Amino acid sequence: MLAAMPRTSAPPPPRQPVPRRDRGDACPGSLRLHTADDGALARVRIPAGVLTVSQARTLMDAARRLGDGALHLTSRGNVQLRGLAPDCGQELAGVLADAGLLPSVRHERARNIVASPLSGLESPAAADVHAWARELDSLLCACDAAAELSGRFLFAFDDGRGDVAGLGADVTLIASPDAGALLCAGGAREVLVVPPEHAARCALLAAETFLGAARDAGTGAWRVAELPGGPSAFVRAVAERLSAAGITAAARERAEPLTSGTGPEPGVVPAPDGRAALSVEAPLGLITAGQWSLLTRTALHDGAGELRLTPWRGVVLPGLGPDSARTRLAELSAAGMITAADSPWHGVGACIGRPGCAKSLADVRADAAPAPGTGRGLPVYWSGCARRCGHPHGDWVDVVATAGGYDISVRGERLRDTMNDPSEFAATVAEARTTPLPQ
Ligand code: SF4
Repeated sequence: MLAAMPRTSAPPPPRQPVPRRDRGDACPGSLRLHTADDGALARVRIPAGVLTVSQARTLMDAARRLGDGALHLTSRGNVQLRGLAPDCGQELAGVLADAGLLPSVRHERARNIVASPLSGLESPAAADVHAWARELDSLLCACDAAAELSGRFLFAFDDGRGDVAGLGADVTLIASPDAGALLCAGGAREVLVVPPEHAARCALLAAETFLGAARDAGTGAWRVAELPGGPSAFVRAVAERLSAAGITAAARERAEPLTSGTGPEPGVVPAPDGRAALSVEAPLGLITAGQWSLLTRTALHDGAGELRLTPWRGVVLPGLGPDSARTRLAELSAAGMITAADSPWHGVGACIGRPGCAKSLADVRADAAPAPGTGRGLPVYWSGCARRCGHPHGDWVDVVATAGGYDISVRGERLRDTMNDPSEFAATVAEARTTPLPQ
């Protein structure tokens, strides 16, 4: 039996001590490869997760020729190529540049933008925030100063449904039907109401404000939460910056904290125009060449020629007819993708673990295999060590490898003794996922 879940909602976490950093962040990129135990790793930023069919094919072609032959989706809707030869950087950069996936060499790690994956595809979305994301990407790449942003600094554009607003971005813009766009930063309660037509420009000005504040503080901050003055002072500084730029920004307080939403459920998503979108997820975020080929063919021949990668390690294909959506969904299911919310793999994630990461204490991806019929409940994330790379936001079942087995917890509360018998992993995690949380 698991211990009872914590009895009260977790209070807001206390502010962490402000770190003093004497170096830039080590986040990998398309050009800055990270050396892992399974070869070099490249992280390709995909703003708002949007790929053309041609770009999607380029990525898989690169993975097959230069890497391990698969695409690894990240919790920010980006793509990682793994198992690369250490000397393939120049060739990879050329391939990505030719496909339009490297519009600015200097900004390649700064293009961290997530957006509501279904925005503009179904009602009642307040706005199509993908237009904001495209505009911000152009503004970032044209801004010299923005190249100094750390590879961890994140922008989020939420169309009002509350999905990406809870992903802990540094600068979040939320579309609102009656209040323009809400600019939120670093978890501060204070928000700014800004004109939606200036949403992308406001995001860039906020990023420039962060860079100035970080420089003045001299602490080498990578993210808004690390600024010594805290997020509230940062929001006030952003308001002054917007005012100086001639943009009206009204301050107000958020009634509720930004909570983590969920991604699109797997399945067919009807659109008001009679079309449909397909939503699928990749088990543990890994997509094989065969699955990617099916996705790109579907996008090209049945859909709108576009793939949207989600921060929940899924893919949305817009613009299908309802009949072809159902047919292709069945084919993607047969190919091993997650196509229904009751799939036992839905909501299950894991870091790369052994043998890809030298820090890992276990082969977490092998151990994470879920029990049949256990797909509902909290997300679960298996980590090979306490760093928990790529973990979800909000409430989730935290399974962490230790020297003696796995520790399992929710909201920081350990639920039971360390698990060390593989035969009990699946059932124990399934029980943790479905044990009700207190309101
Ligand atoms: S959580 Fe630990 S084991 Fe997993 S990828 Fe990160 S550093 Fe490696």
